[in-house]
Amino acid sequence: MNKISEIIRLLQKEFPGYKPKPSKADPLDTLIATMLSQNTTDKTSYIAFTNLKNNFKNWDEVLNAPLNKIKSSIKVCGLTNQKANTLKNLLRNIKKEHGKLSLNFLKNKTDDEICSMLIKNKGIGVKTISCMLAFSLGRDVFPVDTHVHRVTNRLGIANAKNPVKTFEQLNDKIPKGKKLLFHALLIRFGRKICRSAVPLCGKCRLYKLCVYPDKKKYALLSKPEPRDNNFVILEHIH
Ligand code: SF4
Repeated sequence: MNKISEIIRLLQKEFPGYKPKPSKADPLDTLIATMLSQNTTDKTSYIAFTNLKNNFKNWDEVLNAPLNKIKSSIKVCGLTNQKANTLKNLLRNIKKEHGKLSLNFLKNKTDDEICSMLIKNKGIGVKTISCMLAFSLGRDVFPVDTHVHRVTNRLGIANAKNPVKTFEQLNDKIPKGKKLLFHALLIRFGRKICRSAVPLCGKCRLYKLCVYPDKKKYALLSKPEPRDNNFVILEHIH
């Protein structure tokens, strides 16, 4: 068994029976929810997304709304100006190019076609697009956010400076059909055990496989109980 397959096996032991839930929503909803989740928690971005859904009848109404009304709906998730402008710009471009505010037509396009179509939108990057591909379109893609980037680099299966490079190094190496599962397990693991500031190396099933130079130091530190912080926004966009 290669290292990636062994990591997936051990993570499934850490989270027995866990399976990510794909979204049945229009891919546009998933794209917007992912964009809102940048630099914040899934809980606050879910509130912002729900506010948009409650305060506007549809995405057309958001497109035609004053920017301030959009900002007040999403201010809970931070970077309000940037996210409101990204949203307006995205909706404007989709309406102009495709005539209506839905991305259901992407189901008939290849991953590469979708990527090159959406990456042109300011504020919409590789992570946001790959989340939509995996969660909403059922494509076998490995989204890399900050948790996935951190954990895979500590484990030594990637050696990259940023999430985009980690995506480039790993997307073709993950066993077929396992990419969304691996992504979701890594996020849970990154929140519960392999935390950014003080990883709980003393409680880690992957300790022997890990190449993180500080793992011995963190294994010796006290071991607080993990927090329950496993709310995943894309599993709630329906
Ligand atoms: S040993 Fe520590 S750094 Fe390595 S994967 Fe486990 S928690 Fe993360």
